[in-house]
Amino acid sequence: MDFNLTDEQKLIRESVRDWWKRNCPIERIQELDKKGPPWPRDIFEGLANLGVIMGTVPKEHGGSGLDWQTEAIVAEEGGYADPSDASGTGLMGVETGWGFNIDRWCNEEVREKFVKPAIKGQKFLGIADTEPVGGSDLSMHRTTAKRVGDEWIINGEKVFITGTEEAREMSGGWWVLAKTDESGSHKSETALFVPANTEGLEIHPVYNDLGGGAFSHGSFTMRNVRVPDSYRMGEENKGFYYTMGGFDNARILVAAGGVGIARRVLEVGTEYIKQRVLFGKPIAKFEGIQFPLVDLYIELESARFLYQRAAWMHDIRYKEEGMPVKTSEATTFKPTEVAKWVAMAKWTGPHLAAKAAIEVMHWLGAAGYCDEYPIEMALRGCLGGCVAAEGAGNIQKIVIGRELLGREYIPYK
Ligand SMILES: Cc1cc2nc3c(=O)[nH]c(=O)nc-3n(C[C@H](O)[C@H](O)[C@H](O)COP(=O)(O)OP(=O)(O)OC[C@H]3O[C@@H](n4cnc5c(N)ncnc54)[C@H](O)[C@@H]3O)c2cc1C
Repeated sequence: MDFNLTDEQKLIRESVRDWWKRNCPIERIQELDKKGPPWPRDIFEGLANLGVIMGTVPKEHGGSGLDWQTEAIVAEEGGYADPSDASGTGLMGVETGWGFNIDRWCNEEVREKFVKPAIKGQKFLGIADTEPVGGSDLSMHRTTAKRVGDEWIINGEKVFITGTEEAREMSGGWWVLAKTDESGSHKSETALFVPANTEGLEIHPVYNDLGGGAFSHGSFTMRNVRVPDSYRMGEENKGFYYTMGGFDNARILVAAGGVGIARRVLEVGTEYIKQRVLFGKPIAKFEGIQFPLVDLYIELESARFLYQRAAWMHDIRYKEEGMPVKTSEATTFKPTEVAKWVAMAKWTGPHLAAKAAIEVMHWLGAAGYCDEYPIEMALRGCLGGCVAAEGAGNIQKIVIGRELLGREYIPYK
């Protein structure tokens, strides 16, 4: 077991860190957070120039061929630099996690038209799965896709979707899961690529989110939206399984982003408690302040191990499955075992960030409660990853519980 980063990983981490530092000081992130979407083009393009947006896409498909361990390090740097979590959810979790999935299952046409421009920061790619009836229970989803000749006709509504404004402005599109029959079964779900500017797709105004305000979340309806069969991703009626794999990608990056937010928050807090003098001493000398810092530091280092372990397992699985994908070839780790580690990491990263932000806000007192410091922004941002982004909190626990207890204890069976 080697815990050292490779020279390449160190170089990428330093380049990304340096890019964020030069281009997005915390004051700019705070301004973006207040101003709202769309997320600025120069950030898409700047990080794309470093090869880290959808960096795990293989080189022969126009990507950088990074492994997930490296991309997760990039996501941690993003969380540190942008503790609002706008880029953590938007650029990393959604675009990078799901863009990779689109590349994995699409054909050359979609790759040329959408994936390659997105890797260059010129288009936005995402996932449109959640529906008004509930995000957690896919069997209730109502969006349908009917095959007519060489086309699919799609009808339905998708809600809480990341990147509606970015996709409107830059074009691009989403991985959309649709039912091909009335059974409601997950075995009747097909994944289709749906461009944002397709006729019949109507994008609605964005939500007024608590955090991550600079990246849009919105909804759209599809009324007789037509896409060619060449936009089908993978085999018909296997979309559910491909989508579960996509969640693993995205959750690793959300987990790492949460660790980055926690690191930033603790850094701000540590500086503050060393210089804030009360009762004749820096407050860092008081155990009531110092020991929570130590506890959080232990949790921070543990959370990093967790996301790195999940990414390492994921890398092994993908190497075994190869491209084109042979899902039956992965033998070292069962997919559900990988999903368990991913879910543990995804639960931990954002929750640690929230815990750290609340603790540090106490250290800063009133200064932490307003925007003098980025702590309130970090707290609002990371809650998205705790409660819902890339799967609700309890859904992570169901994934973990399934491996601990066995499938017969899944609550919805
Ligand atoms: C920042 C952000 C970005 C997002 N981006 C996207 C996106 O790009 N694309 C997309 O498709 N969606 C996106 N979403 C939506 C997200 O995927 C959903 O919010 C999530 O899946 C939960 O769905 P829901 O909000 O409908 O909650 P519900 O599914 O209604 O769940 C409500 C509550 O019930 C709990 N629950 C559900 N089932 C069980 C159970 N069996 N046992 C115990 N508790 C249970 C859940 O944990 C949750 O607490 C985003 C959400 C946020 C906040």
